[in-house]
Amino acid sequence: MISAPSPSPFALTDEQGELRELARRLATDRYAPLAQEWDRERTPLPAEEVSRQAELGLLGMTLPERYGGGARPLYDSLIVLEQLAKASIVAGWPVFETNTGPVRVIEMFGTPEQKERFIPPVCSGESLIAVAISEPDAGSAATDATVRGRRDANQMVLNGVKRWCSGAGHAEQYLVYVRLAADHGAAGIGAVLVDRDTPGLSFGLQEQLMGFRGVPSADMTFEDVRVPLDNVIIEAGGFKRLFTAFSIERLGNATNSLACAQAALDKAALYVEQRRQFGKEIIEFQTIQAALADMIVQVEAARLLIRRAAENAGSGAPPPIEASIAKCFSNEMAKRVTDQAIQILGGYGYSAEYDVERMHRDAHGWALAGGTPTMQRIRIASEYLGRRFDQRA
Ligand SMILES: Cc1cc2nc3c(=O)[nH]c(=O)nc-3n(C[C@H](O)[C@H](O)[C@H](O)COP(=O)(O)OP(=O)(O)OC[C@H]3O[C@@H](n4cnc5c(N)ncnc54)[C@H](O)[C@@H]3O)c2cc1C
Repeated sequence: MISAPSPSPFALTDEQGELRELARRLATDRYAPLAQEWDRERTPLPAEEVSRQAELGLLGMTLPERYGGGARPLYDSLIVLEQLAKASIVAGWPVFETNTGPVRVIEMFGTPEQKERFIPPVCSGESLIAVAISEPDAGSAATDATVRGRRDANQMVLNGVKRWCSGAGHAEQYLVYVRLAADHGAAGIGAVLVDRDTPGLSFGLQEQLMGFRGVPSADMTFEDVRVPLDNVIIEAGGFKRLFTAFSIERLGNATNSLACAQAALDKAALYVEQRRQFGKEIIEFQTIQAALADMIVQVEAARLLIRRAAENAGSGAPPPIEASIAKCFSNEMAKRVTDQAIQILGGYGYSAEYDVERMHRDAHGWALAGGTPTMQRIRIASEYLGRRFDQRA
């Protein structure tokens, strides 16, 4: 980690430094030793560890105090997330979801009654809310969603299939993007909160993903799933609100990419001074020095992009262009840097024992979740020029 001279606008405050240290110790002492097992067994974070994170005040750090949150700025939660996710995607998952995930939609746009009902269990670790946007035929084209909601008296009746939901079958609740009106595209889409055990909701077989092991993923089938109208968080026509809040999730995603890359860089930096070939440490070879320097440059650039977007978000959502730039760059950076780490570690890099192959697998996942870098590029160009590029035209 590069340290800036003090005083500097880039220095962490004392409080942020303490948070970072708390998360770093939790990650290195408790989670790093379990990371390989969680990956091998595809195990989500054990419930007692979720409770521990809640007791330490790490869940819902960014949510209002009156609902049990920490009322901290977004960047504070990203500092914590980076440290935990460096140990394992599993370790960082609840901090990611409860600070940058779909609960932020409720916090930003829900009614006071919805906030009262849904936010406190998230902060206490009793409920994790996952997001279900994608469908078999609606991925990048999320606005093609076909899961439908039909009003019936004081209930909403849901039908259709969602795919790739991270947390599916494991999370207690789901923010489901639903077509609530007949309009095509974004105009008909809203969002409904659904409990895992609601009759009519079933989960398919768990996906066997390349990475993200320990983050469950499965199809979700809705067959006449009835939820109270009070669970409609965003009415049809509110798609822009959903994607405003989703910019927060994109920074959480970018931070997870950063964590993969920084962790792989740390491993590589240690390795190059230990491994000897041709009678000397491999860092003595200039090509290895250059490779390591390239990794450092890219990691630091990603951290700055994430930080800028997060600082501009304050306690709310980041400017969409800044979130997309940070996500696009960090996603691709993490794939490159973790790949480079594998090369630097040679044959050992290809072994699960040395962790960097796991980081590379996870880095690929982050570049797909939350919208691909290609889709971020479309948004970046569009925001930069102030034009909308209709992908269907
Ligand atoms: C690890 C992981 C976790 C995920 N978690 C969740 C989750 O929690 N909730 C959820 O709802 N979804 C989740 N997803 C789904 C994810 O959001 C989608 O996979 C992603 O948006 C891409 O959609 P797709 O897979 O259908 O690919 P497609 O949209 O079919 O894209 C295929 C390729 O075409 C490109 N492409 C598509 N449209 C265009 C265009 N207009 N111009 C140029 N290129 C284009 C894409 O960039 C991509 O390379 C997750 C996915 C993964 C892999």
